[in-house]
Amino acid sequence: MSAEIVSALREMVGEGGVLDADELRKRSAGAYRFDTLKAAALVRPTTTQQVSEILRWCHARGISVVTQGGLTGLVHGADAEPSEVILSLERMRVIEEIDTKQRVALVQAGVPLQALQEEVDKHDLAFPLDLGSRGSATLGGNAATNAGGNRVIRYGMTRDMILGLEVVLADGTVLSSLNRLIKNNSGYDLKQLFVGSEGTLGIITRLVLRLREKPLATNMAFVALDSFDAVANFLKHIDRSLGGTLSAFEVMWQSYYKLVTSPPAKGRPPVPQTYPYYVLIESQGGDEALDSQRFNVAMETALDSGLIADAAIAQSEQDCRDFWALRDDVGQVMQGGLPIVFDVSLPIAAMEGYAATLAGTLDSEIGEHRLWIFGHLGDGNLHVIVQVKPMDYLKVRPKVEALVYRPLAACHGSISAEHGVGLEKKPYLYVSRSAAEVAVMRTLKAALDPKGILNPGKIFDPAPGCGRDQ
Ligand SMILES: Cc1cc2nc3c(=O)[nH]c(=O)nc-3n(C[C@H](O)[C@H](O)[C@H](O)COP(=O)(O)OP(=O)(O)OC[C@H]3O[C@@H](n4cnc5c(N)ncnc54)[C@H](O)[C@@H]3O)c2cc1C
Repeated sequence: MSAEIVSALREMVGEGGVLDADELRKRSAGAYRFDTLKAAALVRPTTTQQVSEILRWCHARGISVVTQGGLTGLVHGADAEPSEVILSLERMRVIEEIDTKQRVALVQAGVPLQALQEEVDKHDLAFPLDLGSRGSATLGGNAATNAGGNRVIRYGMTRDMILGLEVVLADGTVLSSLNRLIKNNSGYDLKQLFVGSEGTLGIITRLVLRLREKPLATNMAFVALDSFDAVANFLKHIDRSLGGTLSAFEVMWQSYYKLVTSPPAKGRPPVPQTYPYYVLIESQGGDEALDSQRFNVAMETALDSGLIADAAIAQSEQDCRDFWALRDDVGQVMQGGLPIVFDVSLPIAAMEGYAATLAGTLDSEIGEHRLWIFGHLGDGNLHVIVQVKPMDYLKVRPKVEALVYRPLAACHGSISAEHGVGLEKKPYLYVSRSAAEVAVMRTLKAALDPKGILNPGKIFDPAPGCGRDQ
C-alpha cells in the first residue's frame, strides 16, 4: 500500500516532492524530540491546487492526512501513524505580496515566521507575532495552533492578526476566504473556524496577515520583586503609566531566573538572584525621546514607592537582546534530566496559590524532581516545567500531569494557553471544556471532515459512529 501511495503522490507533485517511509526515518519528529518521523509517505506540494488534488485522492480512499509546518509544536499535534500521509508545507514558502498601504501581507502557509518579520521590516512595517521558535515555526502552523508568544498583551494572539485564509477541506474543496478588510461582518467569519483547529478541519494554504507600523523606539527593563502581589500591582502600574505601549510582561519565578543566569547557561543576572520574582518588561512606541522619558518616569515611580525591589534598565539594543535571551533560554531545562512541559492559563489572582500548591504536591507525591515556572503573566499564561530523572519519566509523567491539570478546574483555568491540545492534552480536555462544548466541536468536525481523515485523533476522539469508526 505504501508503495502505491508514494507513486500516486509522485505523479501529482513530481519525484522530488515525496519522501518514502525509509527516507522519513532520517527526519526528526520535531523540537525537543528524540524520535524520527513515521508515515506511509511525506508529500511536499508547492501550490494550493496540488494540496487540493492530494486531499481529493486521499479522501476518496479514506487515507488519513497529517499536516506539518515547522514541527515546533509541543503537544504531539503533528504526529502521524505509519499508515498515514504527512503533508508538509515546506515547499510553500512564498511571500506573495506586501501591501504597504493596506498594511497586509499575503503569504503561503509554509513561510517561517521570522522570514515574514524580516521582510516586512524592510518596508518599515512589523508583523508583531513573536515566538522563541520564530526561525522554524511556519505562519500556517501559527494559525493552526493560534500561537501566542511574547507580545499578546499588546497585539493579541495569532487569531487577531489574521484577516483572511485560504483552506483546503478534507474532500479537496478550496475555500478561499482571502479577505483584506479589518471590518467585514458579512455573515459567519469562517476563517476563525480554522484558527486553532490544529489541522483537524482543513489545511491552511495561504494567509492574509495584518501588519502594523514598525515601532521606532523600544525600552526594556529587568525587574526584581519581593512578592507576587507586587508583581500583579506592578503590571497595573506599568500598563497604566505607559499609555498603551506595554508590549511584553514576562514573569519568572526565582528558580527559572537562577537556571538561565547561572553556568552552564550563558546568561548573567542583570539584577541579584535573591528575589522571589522577576519580570521582563518591554515597551514599544513611536518617539524615542518621549517614550524613554515616560518609561524612566514609570520605573522611577515604581522604585521610589517600593513597588519593585530592584531593576536594570536596558541601555542598548544589545541589552535588549540579552534580556530576551534570558527569557528564551528554555533549552536549559534539558540539562540533568527530562522536562515535562506545561502551558496553562489561569486568573492572575489564582497564580500564587496554584504555584505554591503545585510545588507542595510535587514534593510530597513525586520523587526527585525540579520545578520551574515562568511565562506571559500579562496574558494569564504560565509555563510550568517539571524535570524528572530519565529513568522515572514514563512512570511519573501521568502523575505529574494530573497534579498540574486537575487544580485548574477550580480556578476556571485552561490546560492549554497557547500550545494547543494535540495528543498530549487530549485526556484532560474535560478540565477546560464542557461536554456541550466538545459535542459542538465534534459536530463541526463531522460536518467538515465526515470521513475523519484530517489529523485523526487529535484534540478529541470522534463521536462513536463518526469518522474512522464508520
Ligand atoms: C523554542 C520554542 C518556543 C515556543 N514558544 C511558543 C510561544 O511563545 N507561544 C506559542 O504559542 N507557541 C510556542 N511554541 C510552540 C510552537 O512554536 C507553535 O505551536 C507554532 O505555532 C507551531 O508552528 P509549526 O509551523 O512548527 O507547526 P507544527 O508543529 O508543524 O504543527 C502544529 C500543529 O498545526 C498543524 N498545522 C501545521 N501547519 C498547518 C497548516 N498549514 N494547516 C493546517 N494545520 C497545520 C499540525 O497538524 C499540528 O497540529 C514554541 C516552540 C518552541 C520549540
